[in-house]
This record gives sequence, structure tokens and C-alpha cells, in this order.
Amino acid sequence: MTKVIVAGAGLGGVSVAFELREELPKEVEIEVVGEGNEFNFVPSNPWVALGTRTRDQVVMPIDEIFKKHKITFNGSGIKHIDAEQRKLSLGDGTESEYDYLVLCTGPRLAFENIPGAGPEGGYTQSICTVDHAVKAHDAYKALIENPGSVLVGALPGASCFGPAYEYVLSLEYELRKLKIRDKVPITFVTPEPYVGHMGLGGVGDSKGLMEHKFREHGIKWICNAKVTEFTETEAHVELVDDDGNVKSTQQMPFNLAMFLPAFKGSEAVAEVPNLCNPKGFVKTNTFQRAEAYPEIYAAGVCVAIAPIEETPVPVGAPKTGLMIESMTSAIVTNIKASINGSEAWVEPTLSALCLADMGNTGAAFLAVPQNPPRNRNWTGSGRWVHWAKVAFEKYFMFKVKMGTSEPVYEKVGLRMMGIKRLK
Ligand SMILES: Cc1cc2nc3c(=O)[nH]c(=O)nc-3n(C[C@H](O)[C@H](O)[C@H](O)COP(=O)(O)OP(=O)(O)OC[C@H]3O[C@@H](n4cnc5c(N)ncnc54)[C@H](O)[C@@H]3O)c2cc1C
Repeated sequence: MTKVIVAGAGLGGVSVAFELREELPKEVEIEVVGEGNEFNFVPSNPWVALGTRTRDQVVMPIDEIFKKHKITFNGSGIKHIDAEQRKLSLGDGTESEYDYLVLCTGPRLAFENIPGAGPEGGYTQSICTVDHAVKAHDAYKALIENPGSVLVGALPGASCFGPAYEYVLSLEYELRKLKIRDKVPITFVTPEPYVGHMGLGGVGDSKGLMEHKFREHGIKWICNAKVTEFTETEAHVELVDDDGNVKSTQQMPFNLAMFLPAFKGSEAVAEVPNLCNPKGFVKTNTFQRAEAYPEIYAAGVCVAIAPIEETPVPVGAPKTGLMIESMTSAIVTNIKASINGSEAWVEPTLSALCLADMGNTGAAFLAVPQNPPRNRNWTGSGRWVHWAKVAFEKYFMFKVKMGTSEPVYEKVGLRMMGIKRLK
């Protein structure tokens, strides 16, 4: 009997598992190995950090849902992958063999690059996991009690910037509502060469739009910024010139700091010989198939994608929902073809759709394809973006609850913009 294992039960993992179940005959066994028994809709974590969502609203127990859809689930995590023998060692001491393995293991958060960074043993907040967001909410409540300076941004080598923009503008909105904005100076500190770059080289007039938003809301910013260390109350920051040379240093005080880290690949994946690049991201061909092992596929943040351009402080390219769903769909078609004895033939449309909520309004960016030059290179803003984000959340949680393979980002995002298909 053929067996497909999906590693990771996040945004990519659930999408690929449900679509595999729909597309493959019932004799094919599908197993998902996750870490814990919860699905977290990561894009809603910034709302948890600001208290507009609770933890329970953005996570869902996943084992019963998989069971109902005839998908085996193990929540003990993958400890070791023997790619030659096609065998996994799991956290509960068991082993599981596969014919095909789909890696959707997302990012490992590399806080260790910067002393004092991160919510576990460091001094900064994060919204990358739901538990980090819960901690960040405690820090937000403390800020309300004792208002003072806020720093928000990303650390050198980061590739995911949208949530930092979303967090800073939503935080600003909440503070205004509480009428304490005047007591909270906010600075956005980013390795991007300009505001709105987002690891994408900008999208449409994202630079103009985000600078405008920051000016409108009194948020200061510094770019080409390399944070080197956090103490309990200060960020140590180097500002670099266009050639990457340090031109000045700053000690920036904070009451609350939220910084997105650089990402690396999950450890069990990163240590498989020849599978990954030095950061631990899986090297795939255009069919999402691992270059080193044809029976391994990968989708989502765990995939190696080259930075779009060289920047004075290194930044990576983001991997967002629209792209991830197109990767998972391509993988399902390609595994199905392979099981039927033909070659992998579908390539995903590697495009980016980013929606940044700003409390009661928001900004949207569409890059088709993600790498310039582009067929569509569009930026927009308005209240509809806030409602579109809410729709994504509701629809994605509904998709998981129902165990269907709906391409949420394509259906909600693109259709909302009147776009029927990407190509
Ligand atoms: C705060 C934040 C907000 C974002 N907002 C948006 C947005 O609004 N729109 C958008 O399009 N994109 C957004 N993104 C980007 C992207 O869509 C998300 O990061 C998305 O969750 C990535 O999906 P994934 O499946 O690759 O990884 P994840 O959703 O992170 O899932 C990976 C899963 O793999 C598990 N795992 C890791 N290692 C192992 C192991 N060894 N064994 C078993 N399981 C393992 C993890 O526990 C996790 O559950 C956001 C990202 C962040 C961090």
C-alpha cells in the first residue's frame, strides 16, 4: 500500500493533507506528523498580541478532524528523517515509513543570532507563534499600564516583514483608541533598504504608501538597520550605508519591543544530508520536488527561495499564503501523477499577496509573479483590507474544520480584487 506522510500541521500541512485525501484513492494511506495537537492560523497571531483575538479563536484541535477524514495523525513531532531508507523517527519513539514525504515544517525562529532577542530568555516580543503572541499581549497590557517607547521591526536576515507592519500600525490604532498614543513614541527599525521593501523589492508603490501611513500616524522609521544586541531596556543598532559599511550606531530605549527574527529550517529537516541549503531550507526543483530525493516534496516557509536582490543588510524573500497554497496544489497533482506512473508536471504560480491590517483599515500588495519584472505589481489600501483579513481567517478556519482543500487565498483574495486567475 502506498503511504504519503505530511510533515507539519500548519497552513501548508493541512492544505496538502486534505487535498491529498480528496485526490488520492482511499487505499493510499495519508499520515500527518505535527508538533502538538493544534492547528494555529499564524496570520491571526498579531491580533492575539493586541487582544483583539484570544488564543482559542486562532487555534483548533486537529486530531479528530484528521481522523474524521481518514488521515492518520501523530502529534509527537519528527526527530529524525532517514531519507535513504524513507523512514521517520518520531517523538513518541515510534518509526514511520513512507513512499512520499511532503515537508511543510515552516520556519525555525533564529532568535539566537542576536543576543537578548526573543521571548524565551530574551527581552523582545514575537508574534510568530500563538504562545509568543499570548506573551506579547501581556507585554502590551504592561505598556498600557506604564506607557513609554515602543520599537517594532525585524532582525537582520528576516524574510517576513508584513506582520511587523501590521503589528505596528494596529498597535498604533489601539493606542489612539485608548487615548494614550501621545505617551508612546513608536519607531520602526528594519533591515530593509526602504520602508515597504518587504523582501520583495517593493510592490507597486509600497514604499510611498507605507511612508505615507507612517507619516500620517507619527511613526518614525530607520532602514538599513542591523540590530546587534538587546538589553532589558535598549536595542543596540548599527546603521549601514549602501555598501553595507557601518556609518553610525544607536542605543534605542524601549518599554516594549517586538521584532521578527530571521528564519531557518526545522532541525530534523535541516540535518538530512544534501536536502537543504546552509540555512536549512529545502532545495526543490520547479515541481516542488527535492533536488536530492525525488520522493520528497516541500511547500511553504521550509522551501529555499533565493532573496530577490542584494541589500546592504541581508533580507530574504517571504513565502505567503497564496504561494503556499499553489505549492501544495502542485505537489498533490505531482504525487498523483507519480503514483499513476507518469512524471511530475505541475509548477506552482509563485506569487505574493500580502494584506497588512491596520486596525480599522489596511494595505494590500499583489506581486504576480513574486520576482520582478511582474505582470501585476499593485498596491492598494482601505477599510476593505481589514475585512478581507477577517474573511481569510474565518474561511481558513472553516476550511480546516471541514477538512476541505479550498484554495482560500486564491478564492477570497484574488476574487475580492476581481481577478479570476493568475496566468
Ligand atoms: C506572524 C505571521 C503573520 C503572517 N501573516 C500572513 C498573512 O496575513 N498572509 C499571508 O499570506 N502570509 C502570512 N504569513 C506568512 C505565512 O503564510 C505563514 O507563516 C504560514 O503559517 C506559513 O505556513 P507553513 O505551513 O509554511 O508554516 P507553519 O504554518 O508555521 O507550519 C509549520 C508547522 O510545522 C511544524 N513543525 C516544525 N518542525 C516539525 C517537526 N520536526 N515535526 C513535525 N512538525 C514540525 C510546526 O510546529 C508548525 O505547526 C505570516 C507569517 C507570520 C509569522
